[in-house]
Amino acid sequence: MERVFLSPPHMSGHERELLLDAFDSNWIAPLGPHIDAFEREFAALVDMKQAVALSSGTAALHLALILLGVSAGDEVLTSTFTFAATTNAITYVGAKPVLIDSEPTTWNMDPDLLADELRARARRNRLPKAVVIVDLYGQCADYGPIRQTCARYDVPIIEDAAEALGATYAGRPAGAFGALGVFSFNGNKIITTSGGGMLVCDSEYLAERARFLATQARDPAPHYQHSQIGYNYRMSNLLAAVGRGQLRVLEDRVAARRANFEFYRSELADLPGIDFMPEHHRGRSTRWLTCLTIDPRRFGATSEDIRLTLEAANIESRPTWKPMHLQPAFSTCCVRGGAVAEHIFQHGLCLPSGSSLTGKDLSRVANIVRDIGSRRLPKRKAA
Ligand SMILES: *Cc1c(COP(=O)(O)O)cnc(C)c1O
Repeated sequence: MERVFLSPPHMSGHERELLLDAFDSNWIAPLGPHIDAFEREFAALVDMKQAVALSSGTAALHLALILLGVSAGDEVLTSTFTFAATTNAITYVGAKPVLIDSEPTTWNMDPDLLADELRARARRNRLPKAVVIVDLYGQCADYGPIRQTCARYDVPIIEDAAEALGATYAGRPAGAFGALGVFSFNGNKIITTSGGGMLVCDSEYLAERARFLATQARDPAPHYQHSQIGYNYRMSNLLAAVGRGQLRVLEDRVAARRANFEFYRSELADLPGIDFMPEHHRGRSTRWLTCLTIDPRRFGATSEDIRLTLEAANIESRPTWKPMHLQPAFSTCCVRGGAVAEHIFQHGLCLPSGSSLTGKDLSRVANIVRDIGSRRLPKRKAA
């Protein structure tokens, strides 16, 4: 049986054409017309004035923190339930992540815990330099209360929307809820350039500074003059061409991933002990990954049993993210709460969710999960 991957790249045909155009024009690197066009098209899509194409989502996070003036000794609040790139970037500037638990309704940062933490810190005169809000698995955090709270304490938001391109909340696109938004085009994201990222904002000043820092911070002088430390973080023109092709089919990709989720739910939701990741009533998730939690006592098997059984059938699935407060690299970070993220980690599973999955693939996965679930149940009487 051919392997079913968790979330493989899915090209449309446009990418090859645009890539060859870039190649034949000899705008190979570093920059070029596809970069400018990709940035323009991307900014319009996420309803922000500026977009800066970069070498990765992690690079975009790093620059976002620098642009907000976060530096050594500062503290930055973020979700404990995230991928390590978020917390890694905070340490790159010498700051310390302060980890906040998730809420069960979005699996993203709990707005009440965020308010508690900021209130406590305001009292001690220890407000953080920034808050990085993560939109996990294709779903925006609950930005209504989150933005209100951050505005009250005048703490800027960086939105880590690496997993949420194409999602919306209250009708607004993911990436548009902070001073700066971050996206990733890594190989398993909803669209990919093989590797790459985007930083978005409304401020032309910040976008220009990001471009400056991402090209080794060269001062305007014919000789190479540097009064600040820079980085080599720009995207290549070739990859921007691929990104433009992918952008054209983003809506199809979102529709396909949501259809995957609906299929799994229709096939599996009646099994006892299975809960699918909820969708906030104000948001539209892309369902980048179809995630669920398993209550082993009711289901009769653990999420790890399911993962191993799928693996034996050559199907890739993955546990949900291991919270940062449980990671050795971040074990000394302060954490507020943590039990919700721990529960999701302990019982969570991401099913194959690629936009190129066939109906046959989806049935194969669902049948195996169903089988495990029903095998352990007492036989039901035939109707
Ligand atoms: C993928 C991802 C990133 C990092 O993106 P890269 O392009 O791989 O550097 C950051 N944050 C989250 C939540 C991610 O899932």
